Amino acid sequence: MIVDVHRHVQHKDWSSETWHEMMLTLRHNFMLSQGEKVTLEDVGKEVDTWYDDPQADKLIESMDQAGIDMAVIFPVDWGLGMGEGKVSIEEVNRLYGEMVQRHPGRLVSFVAVDPRRPNAVELLEKGVREWGAKGLKIHPSAGFYPNDESCYPIYRKAVELDAIVLTHTGNIIPPMRSKFTQPLYLDDVLVDFPELKLICAHLGFGWWQELSFLGWRRNNMYADISGWQRLVGNDFDTFCRALRAMLNRLGPDKVMFGTDGPTLSRDHPDGDWIELVRNLPETAPQGISFTSEEVEGILGENAKQLLEL
Ligand SMILES: [Zn+2]
Repeated sequence: MIVDVHRHVQHKDWSSETWHEMMLTLRHNFMLSQGEKVTLEDVGKEVDTWYDDPQADKLIESMDQAGIDMAVIFPVDWGLGMGEGKVSIEEVNRLYGEMVQRHPGRLVSFVAVDPRRPNAVELLEKGVREWGAKGLKIHPSAGFYPNDESCYPIYRKAVELDAIVLTHTGNIIPPMRSKFTQPLYLDDVLVDFPELKLICAHLGFGWWQELSFLGWRRNNMYADISGWQRLVGNDFDTFCRALRAMLNRLGPDKVMFGTDGPTLSRDHPDGDWIELVRNLPETAPQGISFTSEEVEGILGENAKQLLEL
């Protein structure tokens, strides 16, 4: 069973202009770096064709292509940090619940809520009780430290509802600021809420050592590998080292596969990413080893256990 624990579904009305500009610039720069001579306008047109997927139909198609059985989907609540989209975050979260209904057995949704919103706790509760969400996605780069007191009510509610929390960790693109996404600020959360299950996305990127050591003495920390498919081309050894460190310190049942699609899936097909992980027992650099059991765990079994799929 293959489970992608980190996936987004997009529509242009769901996020602000600032956010769109950021995404387009990011993609434009990437394409230029690949030697493709395209204008920002070309990129905009191209992105429009595959980015808008309000009912997750394109997602399901791409999952079938890549051999992904289930995906955990969530929006990102950047409203307070980058401006609100035309559609409210409450409505977007509700639409995610509808996508799960539309594609039975394929999707699990988390709500995305900025903990600083006055109705944050209410939005999480509504998401779980009414729209079937199994967790909460937070993105501290919207402008808060995850150990800030203002975040505690939503963690308390997550524990009460048995909702999993997934947070971005690791350096981030401008105009967002990386200081909010350093793993260290999650330690208070892990200690103060020992029953809270916290998934740290992207293995903390450049802070992978910090993240792995944080998880060493905490039983409630999980991690996902999404985002690294962009890096393995040049940094395969670093990826293997980071992954090995997570498995050693968090435990082999705590690390999960993710794509962060659709943004990265365009340049790094999800099927290739799965293959790369599957082949790690044979391809890992000298001195680092992975077992096929560990790989099965990462690709799906661990998520199956955690999410009770
Ligand atoms: Zn993401």
